[in-house]
Amino acid sequence: METTSTPTHCPYCALQCGMNITPLPQGGVEVTERPDFPVNRGALCGKGRTAARVLSPAARLTSPLVRSGGRLVEAGWDEALDRVAGALSSVRARGGPDAVGVFGGGGLTNEKAYGLGKFARVVLGTSQIDYNGRFCMSSAAAAGTRAFGLDRGLPFPLEDIPRTGCVVLVGSNLAETMPPSLRFFRELRDNGGTLIVVDPRRTRTAEQADLHLAPRPGTDLALALGLLHLVVAENRTDEEYIRERTTGWEEARAAAMAHWPEYVERITGVSVPRLRQAVRMFCEPESAMVLTARGPEQQSKGTDTVGAWINLCLATGRAGRPLSGYGCLTGQGNGQGGREHGQKADQLPGYRRLDDPAARRHVAEVWGVAPDSLPGPGRSAYELLDALGTDVRALLLMGSNPVVSAPRAAHVEERLRSLDFLAVCDVVLSETAELADVVLPVTQWAEETGTTTSLEGRVLLRRRAVAPPAGVRSDLEVLHGLAVRLGVEKGFPTDPEEVFGELRRASAGGPADYSGITYRRLADENGVFWPCPEVPAQDTGAAGAATGFPAPHRPAPATAHPGTPRLFLDRFATDDGRARFVAVAHRAGAEEPDAEYPLLLTTGRVVAQYQSGAQTRRVAELNAAAPGPFVELHPRLAARLGAAEGDPLAVVSRRGRAVAPARITAAIRPDTVFMPFHWPGEGRANTLTNPALDPVSKMPEFKTCAVRVELLGPRT
Ligand code: SF4
Repeated sequence: METTSTPTHCPYCALQCGMNITPLPQGGVEVTERPDFPVNRGALCGKGRTAARVLSPAARLTSPLVRSGGRLVEAGWDEALDRVAGALSSVRARGGPDAVGVFGGGGLTNEKAYGLGKFARVVLGTSQIDYNGRFCMSSAAAAGTRAFGLDRGLPFPLEDIPRTGCVVLVGSNLAETMPPSLRFFRELRDNGGTLIVVDPRRTRTAEQADLHLAPRPGTDLALALGLLHLVVAENRTDEEYIRERTTGWEEARAAAMAHWPEYVERITGVSVPRLRQAVRMFCEPESAMVLTARGPEQQSKGTDTVGAWINLCLATGRAGRPLSGYGCLTGQGNGQGGREHGQKADQLPGYRRLDDPAARRHVAEVWGVAPDSLPGPGRSAYELLDALGTDVRALLLMGSNPVVSAPRAAHVEERLRSLDFLAVCDVVLSETAELADVVLPVTQWAEETGTTTSLEGRVLLRRRAVAPPAGVRSDLEVLHGLAVRLGVEKGFPTDPEEVFGELRRASAGGPADYSGITYRRLADENGVFWPCPEVPAQDTGAAGAATGFPAPHRPAPATAHPGTPRLFLDRFATDDGRARFVAVAHRAGAEEPDAEYPLLLTTGRVVAQYQSGAQTRRVAELNAAAPGPFVELHPRLAARLGAAEGDPLAVVSRRGRAVAPARITAAIRPDTVFMPFHWPGEGRANTLTNPALDPVSKMPEFKTCAVRVELLGPRT
């Protein structure tokens, strides 16, 4: 048994806090602070502190399960893998390669995401692969690519935040989603900078702001346009920057000028004086940032909403300059790396595009296959889930729980039930795994080595700290076992460092170039920011460093590429090096309130639970802190309903009905109710949500839909 303390990273959110794991003599492990990691400097939230509870065999699966007589029963690995391979093979024989779908997750390591994408395209030959990160930040990724030519969540490290002049935080409740990050914003204010929070709710994060703007849900596009209008009207644009570093300003300017402050006040509910105050706070310091999260992104107009905030940055010269810029606060643990290496429907490793012939040639060569054998782009996540049981008849799902986390979840559950065959790889028996024909129990963070890429674009090494329980295997072993059974003997190694070596080669020369990153560097350097191309041997004097891939622990060349903590300082990643304004206009959400559904529902997270709750709902301390769903509503709405605190409420949308107790607070607008989405069953918030998709990013509109609320009677 490993007994020494191992430095590693949290399994949950994209902050990827550093922590130490120490096996205890009496069994189990202890999670302790790791002050040397610069992002969290030892601080951990409750989820990170208790993460080791899910390592316990009592909390998780330790044997494959196969469905027999309608029930899931324990089976051996060979039987389970044979059954998965046999089912995928026969569905493919009947319906063609696209009859088999693959669904991944933003929590998978880079190695797993890479392996899953390769497995889908090389072994199954299917185009039908996507992942739950599509639900998380794809609108910001699309808007960032459109404007800057490249999507990396934050183009600067978090340590820049305390030194800028003003941060506008749009639709992010960091105090609950990643609490250790709040210190950067506290330091910002200590240094004389200001914080503006845009959120329909007065969240714990908003309470710390110098200015809180509470727009009606789904109107932050109009809000950004109104601010840009005032920037122009008050002559606060940076004309030299616009001329030298951007294109498309005239069209974007004209679109913003159509959004008068009084018009924007009517749409958003944010008063003109507060709009003017925000513009002053943002424009007067020498530097400023806009950071977005799920609020503006999870909308049917999410790409344009983020684009409007980017336009505000560009018009004021606040992008691609020191201490200024736009960034997206990615949510899932490997939300950044998970969208770079090939589990997205339209993508190849290194953030290459699947429809780019040169990208196909490069990756096909690394994979040892013909470029023409690679399928084209497939469906986005919700479109894929919606197609289950129609032309997609079998699904291999890894690291995701869409029964709880997908929009219109009851429909998605029905689609999953209609499949001919469902295989799920997971640590625990999630609500989705309960529906499977075969469940494969896999290793998790502290039991395996692998890399993740944090919200800063910092590639990190998670190290194995403890041996997994008998009976579980890694996802890489699952992919290897299935590939061999499906006739592909080579190309799916089970050693994560070997997979990373291939990933480096596949990513070389791509937008997200990892070729200069090695496990050794990651261990020594507390992470490396991509892009980090490999420096050729003749430039480094390190003989042999560029011949094939380095032996696992060969020292990095003395002049290895340092990585890129800050992007765009000289030029943007577009063909002409200039950032692109995109003219956008306000439009209503896909579903606006009416007589039958007069309120807006918005959904989100609470501090003690993570995403679908599959792991955190198995931790007693977290359940004690956040035992179940609730409906947050304003006292005036509660009075109209006759509801008191804790009374059971039914929230009804066009897609279904969820029941949860009332939580009455003046921190929310009277026209809006809020539900966290971590729970299954009758309180499942995603029963209600609307799968209307953004036309560019295909992100569903989790953040706003029309509902009515009914009082079911007093609390019993
Ligand atoms: Fe883990 Fe995120 Fe909490 Fe840090 S903030 S301990 S990464 S869940």
